[in-house]
Amino acid sequence: GSMLVSGIQPTGSFHLGNYLGAAKTWHTIARKLDSSSQMILFIADLHSLTVPQNYSVLKRQRFEAYASLLACGLDPAKVTIYHQAALPEHTQLQWALTCFAGMGLLNRMTQWKAKAGVKTEAEIQNELGAVRLGLFAYPVLMAADVLLFNATHVPVGQDQVQHLELTRDVASAFNKQTNTKFFRSPKTLMAPANKILNLRDPSKKMSKSDPDELTKINITEDPTSMRTKIMKATTDSIDGPLTFDPEQRPGISNLITIYSAIANQTIEETVSQVKDFSKRDLKELVAEAVVKELEEPNRIYKELVASPDLLHKYSLEGADKARAVASKNLKEVYKILGMDMET
Ligand code: ATP
Ligand code: MG
Repeated sequence: GSMLVSGIQPTGSFHLGNYLGAAKTWHTIARKLDSSSQMILFIADLHSLTVPQNYSVLKRQRFEAYASLLACGLDPAKVTIYHQAALPEHTQLQWALTCFAGMGLLNRMTQWKAKAGVKTEAEIQNELGAVRLGLFAYPVLMAADVLLFNATHVPVGQDQVQHLELTRDVASAFNKQTNTKFFRSPKTLMAPANKILNLRDPSKKMSKSDPDELTKINITEDPTSMRTKIMKATTDSIDGPLTFDPEQRPGISNLITIYSAIANQTIEETVSQVKDFSKRDLKELVAEAVVKELEEPNRIYKELVASPDLLHKYSLEGADKARAVASKNLKEVYKILGMDMET
């Protein structure tokens, strides 16, 4: 059977991009799983430590993120959902894998450079002393997250493709050096929806960590504020029929992307539906669709955050289910590395 593994950082409440690009896709996959397959999702709290945090805020956000996943329709009875920090197996495997991961490979990753704000080779050399080892080594933790369950498929967005390539490289280096075929090569499963863009500046993606609330629609906010933000979304001053043109008209195209993803139709279908609309009419159509789509997540989220005991219970049960798979695999890895006590 298939083993699907993915995670989300508890860096803020889920926005429409996380919903359409991740949670909704996970939900759709989960509904189609056959009985021999398993889906494992975790709140990637250890990954959040790679950049400075307010740790008491982070603690609260770890549980809000858990509630958000359930609010998107994921059922903890069918999908294993837990907090990464609850399973020391993640970091135990990470250590083993760091011993197979080349510094050169990690150095080629682009995300740590973006997060550390360095671009040129000179800047990188200059700033290397200030870059935290955790941020640099983050992809090895991600490889451990995936390989801990010997995943066959990893559903993620475009931003994680490079890290999954590294995961496959580390897995094959381990197999080669230990002369085993222990790790399977995990495949990337890309979400069908396009990347959802920032509502104020459509040259950027919608991001949890963006401090400007007007740039994103959170699944937890009230309908009035969702409508206001969409009506205020940046578009363009081009007259005539509405067109899908991500280069020239990123704002309009983003609204068309959002509507298509919610209405489950192609971009072409949406364009033929709205081409003679005014920009205002398009925004009204999108606003109504978003409010309706997020009505249920919104309601479930409010119920869940009011029941912290229930969330804790689900998280602990999820961790137990995940540990059953993880500890078995970790034992085998340690045995392959001669780290067991059997005679
Ligand atoms: P941060 O700003 O802290 O990086 P984020 O909004 O990028 O937060 P992540 O936790 O990094 O969210 O990503 C969680 C999942 O959501 C990933 O699968 C990622 O690919 C997807 N995702 C994030 N942003 C978008 C977006 N704007 N459109 C579509 N998918 C997205
Ligand atoms: Mg991100």
